[in-house]
Amino acid sequence: MNVIPQWLIEKKRDGGALDAAEIRAFIDGYTRGSIPDYQMSALAMAIYFRGMTADETAVLTDAMMRSGDLVTFTNWPCPTADKHSTGGIGDKISLALGPLAASAGLAVPMIAGRGLGITGGTIDKLESIPRYDTRLSIDAFKRVVGEVGCSISGQTERLAPADKKLYALRDVTGTVPSIPLITASIMSKKLAEGADTLVFDVKCGRAAFMRTREDARALAQSLIRVGRSLNRKIGALITDMEQPLGRAVGNAVEVAEAIETLKGCGPADTRLLTIELTALMCELAGVYTDHATARRELATRLDDGRAFEVFRRMVTAQGGDVRVIDEPNRLPQPCAVMDVLAPQSGFVTFVDAQQIGRVVLQLGGGRVTTAEVIDPSVGVDRLVQAGERVEKGQPLMRLLAKDTAGAKALAVNAARAVRIGKDREPERIRVLESISG
Ligand code: URA
Repeated sequence: MNVIPQWLIEKKRDGGALDAAEIRAFIDGYTRGSIPDYQMSALAMAIYFRGMTADETAVLTDAMMRSGDLVTFTNWPCPTADKHSTGGIGDKISLALGPLAASAGLAVPMIAGRGLGITGGTIDKLESIPRYDTRLSIDAFKRVVGEVGCSISGQTERLAPADKKLYALRDVTGTVPSIPLITASIMSKKLAEGADTLVFDVKCGRAAFMRTREDARALAQSLIRVGRSLNRKIGALITDMEQPLGRAVGNAVEVAEAIETLKGCGPADTRLLTIELTALMCELAGVYTDHATARRELATRLDDGRAFEVFRRMVTAQGGDVRVIDEPNRLPQPCAVMDVLAPQSGFVTFVDAQQIGRVVLQLGGGRVTTAEVIDPSVGVDRLVQAGERVEKGQPLMRLLAKDTAGAKALAVNAARAVRIGKDREPERIRVLESISG
């Protein structure tokens, strides 16, 4: 279909709904380069102000998904499933969830991303394992899923290229915070990787992409609507991202904490969210019939080492040095460490995830532009959690830095992230809502 781009921009600008052929032609033209960035950004801005109907969003998602290669698992011997998180501080859940779900009988083809700004990325974390290959071809990716049950690899150039181009454009044209555009962006990538069941961890709070619970719910509902209309089984949890997840934030240090979780230990919040998301995934995919059974079975798989064994096999299959999995102190280690001490005694009432994220970014554990190289060894470890008692002079966290000067420069900011009060405050709930069914 020949489209006159400006007519479609005008139609959306004036509040009209685009039909399927118009959306497909626009995305096709943009992907091929016949529709220039300035017209795509005008349409994105019109969508930002006017929104899209559920049908338009589903067609946009489908068109972006089909803009490149599609991974297919037709006639695969077991259900395929994956999870996506909208990103948070200390969010290492994917590293444990993939192997855990695979240990329960799901095939997990997980294409993950890199960190940007204060939120970390699963691919950066995995790259702290020496020689772990995050650039698998689609054939190699499918082979690892077949052999191990789970593969975690990075996005190839050919997977949803329309999203790659459009996301970069939205980033510089003020059009990121639009629910239809976010939905199509996230979903097109996830659908292209071929899983039948998808679970979303939509985070909300100051350190999250969606600041309020209402916005997080609106995004979750939009993802679910579009996923269903494209015949996937979809569920979502809305989870709190005011405070970091677990006690470790960084890259190598988060791999170490994920390994602890996979061995049945690790911080309670990390274990809980790993189990909750995997249980939702298993239930939707039909592996377990009810949530209580799913939780119990999955907890056993963490405790008896079956999930850890899948992780080990995945690292081996992707060329990684499995010795660092067996002995995490072989993971990249920082040149300098420094404990940040409590200025007073009391109960930890709040740990500010945004502040901790900024400290890790400044230590060199994150990136501001996509071209930057991160240091896998730096970050924050042994972080206190809300509800814990601390005495004056006791460590609140350990800074893992490139040098002592770098750690010293950030110590005050790091200490400010932890609020200490006289009384213990009620525990904050991590999983705020489950949306599925
Ligand atoms: N993450 C994505 O992949 N796309 C968006 O639009 C926002 C967050």
